[in-house]
Amino acid sequence: MEILSVSAEVAPWSKTGGLGDVAAALPKALAARGHRVLAVAPRYAPYPDAWDTGMRLRFPLFGQVHEVRLFHTQAAGFDLLFVDHPAICRGGIYGDERGGYGDNLFRFALLSRAAIEAARRFPVSAGGDAARPLTEAGPLRVLSHDWHAGLVPVYLRHHYQAHGLLTDARVAHVIHNLAHQGVASFDDWWGLDLPAAAAPVLDMHGRMNCMKAALVSADRVVAVSPSYAREITEQEHGFGLDGILRMRGGALSGIINGIDPTEWSPAADRHLPATFGPEVWPEAPTKPGPVGGKLRCKAELQRELGLPVRADLPVLGFIGRLTGQKGIDLLEAVGPWLAHQPCQVVLLGTGEERYERALSALGRRYPSAVAVKVGFDVGLAHRITAGADILLMPSRFEPCGLNQLYALAYGTVPLVHATGGLRDTVHSFDPGRDAGTGWAFGPASPEAFQHALSMALLTWHQFPASFAGLARRGMAERNDWAASAEAYVRLLAG
Ligand code: ADP
Repeated sequence: MEILSVSAEVAPWSKTGGLGDVAAALPKALAARGHRVLAVAPRYAPYPDAWDTGMRLRFPLFGQVHEVRLFHTQAAGFDLLFVDHPAICRGGIYGDERGGYGDNLFRFALLSRAAIEAARRFPVSAGGDAARPLTEAGPLRVLSHDWHAGLVPVYLRHHYQAHGLLTDARVAHVIHNLAHQGVASFDDWWGLDLPAAAAPVLDMHGRMNCMKAALVSADRVVAVSPSYAREITEQEHGFGLDGILRMRGGALSGIINGIDPTEWSPAADRHLPATFGPEVWPEAPTKPGPVGGKLRCKAELQRELGLPVRADLPVLGFIGRLTGQKGIDLLEAVGPWLAHQPCQVVLLGTGEERYERALSALGRRYPSAVAVKVGFDVGLAHRITAGADILLMPSRFEPCGLNQLYALAYGTVPLVHATGGLRDTVHSFDPGRDAGTGWAFGPASPEAFQHALSMALLTWHQFPASFAGLARRGMAERNDWAASAEAYVRLLAG
């Protein structure tokens, strides 16, 4: 197949969360299966490993003809183009310290238009075939990710197909997070260079809404887990689009994300002081906690974060954006209680200032029990995933979640709120059958969270063999892209 993937982020060049990881790993998995894959993302900054192709594209947008340059790399294992324009290349991804950029609609309209044109012009090779533009090699299959690429199916339908071009192209729009919809004033409508027939597509209660436009224009809609696909058709998690998603029910499905083992594997992780395999959780442990390489990672983590180096306490980790979605209020609520339990807590994240302040204060108040790092630090994220015994994800909603998948692979037992992808990937501990891979609590209340934490700490201290079993079962799971990439292939082929 000839597959175009369009996204606002692609790791490691640009990443604020899971979208960046998936937009790199999924094209790679599809290319590895012999498909002709082109990914297109913005060039937010000069990237030293991406070269100017010399290709220039021009579009009328917002009353002016704009020229974009295309930069190219194959460093990620597939053809990746970066769209360059002064409005895009200003350092930040979505904004700067003063907030979101005011012209994001324009920036991502440029991305969307450039991506379709790139599929028509930029030569891509597959499995030793001669390099050809995607649209010359066969019918185009498009993955548009989140609202930033939401205009791709709209331009395709109303700009190209309405003129008899690319009529055999099909789009699957992938929802990574429905909370972000690309809402703008309808006063900006004229700037998008779309025919009047597209206006109702973009209209949502008198405002422009790029996510809604994508949901009604795409041939298929994919949510990043089966549970999330169900939840977004309900009012609680639908963010106002649940009615439209119910209407599109027949075209909506859920495909869980995978992890990229070249980036996230405890046996070969360049960010760790020691690498390790499943032997770190022995079947008949003589005392609680991991041994070998994982114990070394744990000790180094404690040292790095200024905590007492203690093997006799479990380390509970949290990594993520500090927003309401991630259940930071729940962490805040149980924080003082947790600081008095026999454990250590390490928290890494950036986000809303009130949460950064609240968690930092917790760290200052309990310096020997709680370590808090405000910042975005990929290396430390790996070291926490490896060095912690338990990973906390009390998210109020979670489309898929990647950190719990990384935790499972690293023998770190996830403790999560049973929602979305967390519900689909973490199987709650059943002591009777010695089954499960973590703890999944509900509802999202401080009481339920605290109860799950008590159970996890009790298991770690009193039942080391049970805890080791949980960790070992998690490590044995294969959460890589194989099955999910096949599911995408079936969806795009259908
Ligand atoms: P989301 O996409 O909602 O942010 P995911 O769990 O799907 O959540 O993905 C989060 C990704 O971002 C993971 O790869 C995680 O390690 C990374 N991440 C989040 N916050 C940080 C941070 N402060 N420093 C480094 N990596 C982070």
